[in-house]
Parts: sequence; structure tokens; C-alpha cells
Amino acid sequence: DCRTATIASTIRVIPDFPKPGILFQDITTLLLDVKAFKDTIDLFVERYKDKDISVIAGIEARGFIFGPPIALAIGAKFVPIRKPKKLPGEVISEEYSLEYGSDIMEMHVGAVQPGERALVIDDLIATGGTLAAAIRLLERVGAEVVECACVIELPELQGRKRLGDKPLFILVSAV
Ligand code: 5GP
Repeated sequence: DCRTATIASTIRVIPDFPKPGILFQDITTLLLDVKAFKDTIDLFVERYKDKDISVIAGIEARGFIFGPPIALAIGAKFVPIRKPKKLPGEVISEEYSLEYGSDIMEMHVGAVQPGERALVIDDLIATGGTLAAAIRLLERVGAEVVECACVIELPELQGRKRLGDKPLFILVSAV
């Protein structure tokens, strides 16, 4: 699809952010391009509109940008998956390991019912730890995670391996 080449060209790469040695993929410049942003949402909507998905689970923070427009377009609810102590209601938590240390993701109890078909969305997959934690949260409440979707994959980090047999759909591969 020629739309993905344009989308890729709008993503800005910033060296040494947030720390030295990291090449940060900045999607805020994609959001400034009205056609690229619309194409991004359209590509996801085209893929998921007839897949009987009732939940879009978006990962803080940039999954909150891409998730809701997809959810509205396909007629699914939007469920935020957040960093610790942000959600006000009762939550379940999943810890996951980082290069140094670990982090936690949380989801509201009662947001997703057993048997619901869910799509997990984020802007980017690096090591896959964040998406893997989101999958565990959804599966703990009995949901079926149909697929994970990201705008960008950093393939060198082999994040797909941490998703087990869960399919991952991406628009842009960053090398
Ligand atoms: P992972 O858990 O796969 O190692 O890291 C993915 C998470 O870190 C995502 O939530 C993503 O937003 C964030 N992240 C890591 N590196 C980058 C980057 O270069 N650009 C952006 N936009 N997000 C990143």
C-alpha cells in the first residue's frame, strides 16, 4: 500500500532522546500531516472493521491517540491501559521487565467482559514487553486478544517474540 510510504516519511527521528544512544521515533510529526494521520487510521479501520472486535485497548500514552478514532470507526469500545496509579477505579496490574528494572501496566476491573474480542493498539513496538503485559491483562479477564497493532516496529529488538503466537500488524518498519 503506497500510503505506508507517506506515513513513514512523516515520522521524525530524533537522536539521543530521551537518553544518549536512543533514536526516538517521533509520531507527533505524523499527526501534523492531515493526510498521513487519516491514512494511518484508515489502514487500521480497513483491517479491523469486519473482524467482530468489541474492544480497542490503547496503551498510554500514544495508544490513546490512535486507538479512539479506530474504536469509533469500527463500533468498538475504548479501554485505556495505563501506567500505575493513574486509573481511579479498581484495577488489575501486570509487571513487565525493561532493560533496567521493570514497569507496571494497569486496567480497570469491569471494563472488559469474558469472551470479548480485543485489539491492542500502541504507536510502537520495541522489546514487546508493554504489549505482552497488555495481552496478559486482557486474557486475565477472559478476553480474546485477536491481534496487536502498532504504527511502527523496531524489528532489531525482536519484540514479536515476546508476543508468543499473537499476531502483530504494523504499518512501518524502522531500521
Ligand atoms: P517496548 O515495551 O516494546 O520495549 O516499548 C514500547 C513502548 O515504549 C511503547 O509504549 C512506545 O510508545 C514506547 N517507545 C519506545 N521507544 C519509542 C520510540 O522510539 N518512539 C516512540 N514514539 N515510542 C517509543
